[in-house]
Amino acid sequence: MQKKYLLFAPGPSPIPPKVLLAMAEPIIHHRAPAYIKVLEEVREGLKYLFQTKNEVLIFASSGTGAMEGAVTNTLCAGDKALVVQGGKFGERWANICKGYGVHAKIIHVEWGRAVDPEMIKKALEVEPAIKAVFIQASETSTGVRHPVKEIAGIVKNYENTILIVDAITGIGVFDLPTDKWNLDILVGGSQKALMLPPGLAFAALTDKAWRFIEKSTLPKFYFDFRKELKNIKDNQSAYTPAVSLVIGLREVLRMIKEEGLEHVFARTARMAKATREAMKALGLQLFAPDSPSDAVTAVVAPQGIDGQKVVKVLREKHNITIAGGQDQAKGKIFRIAHFGYMDTYDIVTAVAAVELALKELGHPVELGKGVKAALEVLS
Ligand SMILES: *Cc1c(COP(=O)(O)O)cnc(C)c1O
Repeated sequence: MQKKYLLFAPGPSPIPPKVLLAMAEPIIHHRAPAYIKVLEEVREGLKYLFQTKNEVLIFASSGTGAMEGAVTNTLCAGDKALVVQGGKFGERWANICKGYGVHAKIIHVEWGRAVDPEMIKKALEVEPAIKAVFIQASETSTGVRHPVKEIAGIVKNYENTILIVDAITGIGVFDLPTDKWNLDILVGGSQKALMLPPGLAFAALTDKAWRFIEKSTLPKFYFDFRKELKNIKDNQSAYTPAVSLVIGLREVLRMIKEEGLEHVFARTARMAKATREAMKALGLQLFAPDSPSDAVTAVVAPQGIDGQKVVKVLREKHNITIAGGQDQAKGKIFRIAHFGYMDTYDIVTAVAAVELALKELGHPVELGKGVKAALEVLS
């Protein structure tokens, strides 16, 4: 028998059977009352998830679409921006800015470290003309969680600056109250903790962000936030929505509401801690020891073992997918995701699989040592 396919990559992530079944229903028309009812419920669910009174916009794209929209809807060519760059996704913000002629000053952060909010404070003091600060809530490539609450507290004092947060592995993972913390734009995606296939992107905006949008002159068409706001208020979208994904989303939002956001966060934090403790018990080092994200644990591959090999052995011999490192972290780390449709025994499985893979690669492993440490956190 072929081994069961198990997915522990930071996106796409496992999808609950209930959601798969909902998406397998025959397609309905997006201008018909049945779909309008779906969208009505989804709008409310998204407001709960993003913790905002404002509408959350939905796009048929991967997460990067809404990232691009966050730039093109708020800024003008020649504007100044500040980008926190401590991994692949921070680089993406810089690249989008570059593509649209926005002058991004980069705050370089060592991979595996979180940014010090003081650096943002200083940069804004030196250059108050900076119109947007870009960051990741969770930098998936390094497993780091950045202190967005503290940074939002700084940006809040600047009337002409907004904070734009890529929360694609933050939403549904840990607390990110849009309105309460003044997270001016929060971008989300479907294939991470939202337990859906890839194909939906989200943007939540504060009133301050909406004021910026009035003045933005960068070109935009599909990702036109004002146009989508107008449409969603009528339970519509400007163009054909990803009907099946939105129907799946309704199911996901029901599940999250039923569990309760704070319980989702607590469960995720427990799984993250269990994974970290397990890796430490195996004598491995965490790549982001000081500010680990609860979305994904980046583990330093042991001396003499290529991190990519760990990924390869798991994929080829065990039919299990985890992630390796990218760019400068390639070969040095491997990453285990723990969000969304996962619970106690998924973590136990992931840890056990890493133990076996390391052993197969010749690393001395006392089997069960990591599992034991994980279970102690999970029990
Ligand atoms: C997955 C991810 C993205 C999204 O990328 P897409 O491939 O466009 O969905 C963006 N930022 C972070 C932090 C991510 O983890």
